[in-house]
Amino acid sequence: MMKFQAFLIKYGEIGLKGKNRYVFEDALVRQIKNALKTAGEGKFEVSRINGRIFVHAPEDYDFDLTLSALKHVFGVTGICPVRVIPNRTPKGIAEAVVDFIRENYERFDFTFKINTRRANKAYPLGSMELDALVGEAVLEAFPDMRVDVHSPEEMIHIEVRKEDIYLYSLVFKGPGGMPVGTGGKAMLLLSGGIDSPVAGYMISKRGVQLDAVYFHAPPYTSERAKQKVVDLARIISAYAGVIYLHVINFTDIQMYIYDQCPHEELTIIMRRYMMRIAERLAVSSDCLGLVTGESIGQVASQTMKSLLATNEVCTLPVYRPLIGFDKQEIIEIAGNIGTFETSILPYEDCCTIFVAKHPVTKPNLNIIRRSELLLKEKIDTMVEEAVAGDEVIVIRHGEAASVERLRG
Ligand code: ATP
Ligand code: MG
Repeated sequence: MMKFQAFLIKYGEIGLKGKNRYVFEDALVRQIKNALKTAGEGKFEVSRINGRIFVHAPEDYDFDLTLSALKHVFGVTGICPVRVIPNRTPKGIAEAVVDFIRENYERFDFTFKINTRRANKAYPLGSMELDALVGEAVLEAFPDMRVDVHSPEEMIHIEVRKEDIYLYSLVFKGPGGMPVGTGGKAMLLLSGGIDSPVAGYMISKRGVQLDAVYFHAPPYTSERAKQKVVDLARIISAYAGVIYLHVINFTDIQMYIYDQCPHEELTIIMRRYMMRIAERLAVSSDCLGLVTGESIGQVASQTMKSLLATNEVCTLPVYRPLIGFDKQEIIEIAGNIGTFETSILPYEDCCTIFVAKHPVTKPNLNIIRRSELLLKEKIDTMVEEAVAGDEVIVIRHGEAASVERLRG
């Protein structure tokens, strides 16, 4: 027999009232179903009863895989594996709770509280009486355990329903946030580095759906560098759902800027063209903002003055969720969400190849604008061509990315 037959999903409901609550719950149920596809498509049943969400597992399910899928759903704050047993007498319930504790804990010296909830009002015993009866049986079976009704180390829940009884006590932490789909869509500038995948994760955590764009510069950046970005997008998509990854061939633009503009301004001007193109893609795919992995002062192109210069070319808001983070803090999140190992693979990124020895750290906007004039109309044609050649890769977690050319 399986140890657990269901999961109770806890979610942050503070501030959720009326219509908002339904939008939140609907989106959450949809995302849970979506995430569970990796653990067995169509095999799980997700139900919403009295403002609570339960996932019922099939008999032959993989516990670890299922738990992992649920831990990737934004909006989920806690996951409680539930043992479902047939309805029985109070004495039967007490025995089941003792078994439950014996099987799920390693030490039996913690403080506890029994918390009964009686959904079946016809059950012969009241919830307080059942609490007392079961509590006594537990104390008898485990003499080193103690009852603490105010702040127990473990809360043992019993839910008495018509057909069956639910037992649960363990709580696994969920990622929190808002279910994806409750917050519009944004375009993530995704490089192969450590920061931008984390930035995407953080925006997605607020319920925002993601599209992404990667600026590729073959042959200066290899296919492996591109594959790394695809892999990163796939890791994020375990949280964010389907991601349309736009791959833009940036080589000609980059070379042209390199030829025409002062080298110390190259990074800033290149970044401005990335932003311009990203905004074009964002607008045509209904995104409400851009997302980058920038953090103040991390590198020359991320000083306040540099950010001012790159920001200037956008009309959409640019979300920079890592703006106040130290590198170490970003690395920690990258480790937790599983992108770090991929991000540190040593493939070149398009910015490192052309970077000047001494890039400007305090770009003067007027000078940058004047340098861009050197690019003449030709740059506009090149931008058009780059956008027209957009390769769109549809990224879905758990399956090979299917490459679709949706444009060009
Ligand atoms: P990351 O770790 O995300 O690569 P970084 O510290 O290397 O960031 P920069 O190279 O200055 O910083 O890039 C700043 C931001 O610009 C990145 O976080 C990313 O959002 C975007 N970006 C940089 N290069 C690319 C690229 N080749 N394709 C798409 N976006 C990019
Ligand atoms: Mg980078």
